[in-house]
Amino acid sequence: MFEGLPVRGMLVRLTDAWQDILHRREQAGGYPAAVKELLGEMTAAATLMQANIQFDGALILQIMGDGPVKLAVAEVQSDLSLRATATVAGEVAQGAPLSHMVNVNNDGCCAITLDPRNRQPGHQPYQGVVPLFGDRREKLEKLSDIIEHYMLQSEQLDTKLVLAANDKVAAGLLIQRLPLQGEGNLAGSGVVRRDEDQIGQNEDYNRIAILAASLKREELLELDADTILRRLFWEEDVRRFDPQLGDEGPRFACTCSRDRVSNMLRSLGKEEIESILAEQGQVEVGCEFCGAKYPFDPVDAAQVFLQPATQPPPSSGMH
Ligand SMILES: [Zn+2]
Repeated sequence: MFEGLPVRGMLVRLTDAWQDILHRREQAGGYPAAVKELLGEMTAAATLMQANIQFDGALILQIMGDGPVKLAVAEVQSDLSLRATATVAGEVAQGAPLSHMVNVNNDGCCAITLDPRNRQPGHQPYQGVVPLFGDRREKLEKLSDIIEHYMLQSEQLDTKLVLAANDKVAAGLLIQRLPLQGEGNLAGSGVVRRDEDQIGQNEDYNRIAILAASLKREELLELDADTILRRLFWEEDVRRFDPQLGDEGPRFACTCSRDRVSNMLRSLGKEEIESILAEQGQVEVGCEFCGAKYPFDPVDAAQVFLQPATQPPPSSGMH
């Protein structure tokens, strides 16, 4: 928080949680380096957004791609437990730019979904979607640009993001101009605020955003929070809040369960499941996020169609 200014900042540095996500993927072959970088940046960005709005439920950041990366998902719960996965079908070259992975024909998009914790069946979660291009249809090559664009378009919020990820660390810095009144619609109020005259006009925000943008990728990956804040904002009056660590901080946790898989099988329909059983003897569903396997033999599968649904079916992540 910048004392006396309508500007808020937040820094995240994921180490164990991020390595846990990568580790779980290793037995399935792991991710190409460029995908790791994208997914790590998404995970850091989703964590920052969730910590920023403190939404009571899941914040899900997704990129639906039209290149070799079909889908990338980072999901962060209100307690900052998180998970992430990407579906890669095809070659991703070393150092491939974002557009080569997810926006070959400029048809990729980025969605942010807020799924309330106790959502009633039939209620749709709030979702905002933006394309992966800028105002002149130019392909955006940085995830930070895409999310800044989203924040401006959907939330009317000036936002500066610096993101970086490698094998060990996924990190991000978020600077945002605080809305003058009410809440952004990302906070679930459904009300679109109109203080657009302020956008890009606040000198304090602009100065701090420029300082933030001078942070280099390597610095973000390698330096601790104290050093980064001191270097960037030594002339600003920064009020720091205690970092959230351990059980209160970001950590890997998967929300998959046998119940959810049962619901998913139910939604596929009895016929579909019976044909898989006839072919393979059992149905096995793997969770793409954590690698858990849920086998259903014919007896289990029959059970699935005897009980009524207990939860809304999961929206994504299972196959
Ligand atoms: Zn799982």
